[in-house]
Amino acid sequence: MSHLRLVLADQLSESLSALADVQAGDTILMCEVMEEATYVRHHPKKIAFLFAAMRHFAAELSDRGLQVRYVTLTDPANTGSLTSEVARAATELGLRQVIVTEPGEYRVSRMMQSWHAILGLDVEIRSDDRFLCAIDRFARWASGKKQLRMEYFYREMRKAYHILIEPDGTPTGGQWNYDKENRKPPAKGLVSPPRISHPPSAILQEVLALVGTRFSAHFGTLEPFHFAVTRTQALVELDDFIARILPHFGDYQDAMVQGEAFLNHSLLSSYINAGLLLPLEICRKAEAAYRNNRVPLNAAEGFIRQILGWREYVRGIYWLMMPDYGELNFFDAKRPLPDFYWGGNTAMACIAEAVAHTRDHAYSHHIQRLMVTGNFALIAGLDVKQVQDWYLSVYSDAYEWVEMPNTLGMALFGDGGLLGSKPYAASGKYIDKMSNYCGGCRYNPQEMTGETACPFNALYWDFFARNRDKLEANQRLPFVYSTWDKFSPDRQAGIKNQAASVFNRMAQGTL
Ligand SMILES: Cc1cc2nc3c(=O)[nH]c(=O)nc-3n(C[C@H](O)[C@H](O)[C@H](O)COP(=O)(O)OP(=O)(O)OC[C@H]3O[C@@H](n4cnc5c(N)ncnc54)[C@H](O)[C@@H]3O)c2cc1C
Ligand code: SF4
Repeated sequence: MSHLRLVLADQLSESLSALADVQAGDTILMCEVMEEATYVRHHPKKIAFLFAAMRHFAAELSDRGLQVRYVTLTDPANTGSLTSEVARAATELGLRQVIVTEPGEYRVSRMMQSWHAILGLDVEIRSDDRFLCAIDRFARWASGKKQLRMEYFYREMRKAYHILIEPDGTPTGGQWNYDKENRKPPAKGLVSPPRISHPPSAILQEVLALVGTRFSAHFGTLEPFHFAVTRTQALVELDDFIARILPHFGDYQDAMVQGEAFLNHSLLSSYINAGLLLPLEICRKAEAAYRNNRVPLNAAEGFIRQILGWREYVRGIYWLMMPDYGELNFFDAKRPLPDFYWGGNTAMACIAEAVAHTRDHAYSHHIQRLMVTGNFALIAGLDVKQVQDWYLSVYSDAYEWVEMPNTLGMALFGDGGLLGSKPYAASGKYIDKMSNYCGGCRYNPQEMTGETACPFNALYWDFFARNRDKLEANQRLPFVYSTWDKFSPDRQAGIKNQAASVFNRMAQGTL
């Protein structure tokens, strides 16, 4: 019996479960649909990356002799949604059996589950075995635990895949985690190593022209365009990263430097999330580089932890908690997202820098996402849905399964501590220590009140003061409230007035 096999934009892997037993007579369906390209206003670079990578992947499948039905955005017959394109293909090809790999978003999963009822199709939804922890395995790990913590999950994954594990079962080097060696402030002269670029293919040029015409109103610059759009190109970037950059990954993982968007980060998330690279192959290559003495242990372990630990953990949390997860708002945060997240003027150098990287590259690195734009959103009490929409729109690696737990859980503590044990709130002093932004800023990270005081400082204390009922019992914040209580009533009032002034200036667009 012949099947219709749907491949989504983030399923561009030859080993995809939906393609496992593809046979003559089957048709592989891939489509560029307006509904998916616009359900949030994705960055033009993200749309171009995905359309170009999809078109290349479809061409590779065709070259293998497989039957591919590829619907471009501009195809006059394109009906604009996944559901209607599956229906159209099934009718036109006379196929009633559909095979898919489970999608990365709850919304799309619901959509697929409705196809039997609304389209009369037999739909087989297969597990996505590119992830290293299946959804039901994570649920079993989480079951009965009072508290979920990434670190313990990560140790299980290290053992399960035998990565950085010695023959006697102990962690390589004697410790599970070398993060203590990975939090150095930026050294003087720290810059981003040069990156590989790829000659643009005809497919990419065509896609850039299309996206430039159709999505120019979306936030973000389309060109220059630096992404790999095939697995071969992505592998070149992976090997180059491991050879040249991974040795320095750990040391300055949390550092931020003016004008340096990438530093020693891998820039691989978009490729892994779209399926061009597989998480296990990356971890194995990083481990091999350590074993061959090409990479120090703190760098290899720190990098592997992000992929084998954090990436799998956040996905597990997402599927464990959806659909309720998306409705959580622990602090009842509702302040509108200020215009400076969309490139509007701000004198805050750290925010302006993170937003500029985002606009230009559809990228900013983890600490900018967490401790600059995320931290500000947390301590200013910005609307959790608007903040999540922003993160989902502006980054080339953003899909709800990974964006939501990182934004709602890690950055905004909107789940009340399910994903992380305490809010990542920080004052301007943290940003000053970990970056060189403050020297060029109108504000001063050492000042708490007054016109030139860093806005993060008063907001930090105001956040803890106004959420005392929700946070005081948190055992990881022992010094916050004892310090606040030592402030004189005048100092406390001064900080609250300063926070009110920050909110006013934010509303007026003069912060
Ligand atoms: C508020 C917020 C939103 C985020 N949104 C996304 C998102 O939409 N998509 C996304 O892939 N990551 C997201 N992250 C996680 C992380 O910031 C990015 O994965 C990372 O910055 C990508 O850059 P890189 O490839 O250079 O990563 P590197 O620093 O080189 O890290 C290596 C790899 O580890 C993985 N990784 C690292 N941290 C995480 C994490 N916390 N969760 C999941 N995977 C991780 C990624 O695959 C990444 O490529 C978010 C983090 C925060 C704080
Ligand atoms: S002084 Fe404050 S606002 Fe300015 S760059 Fe430093 S942390 Fe950011």
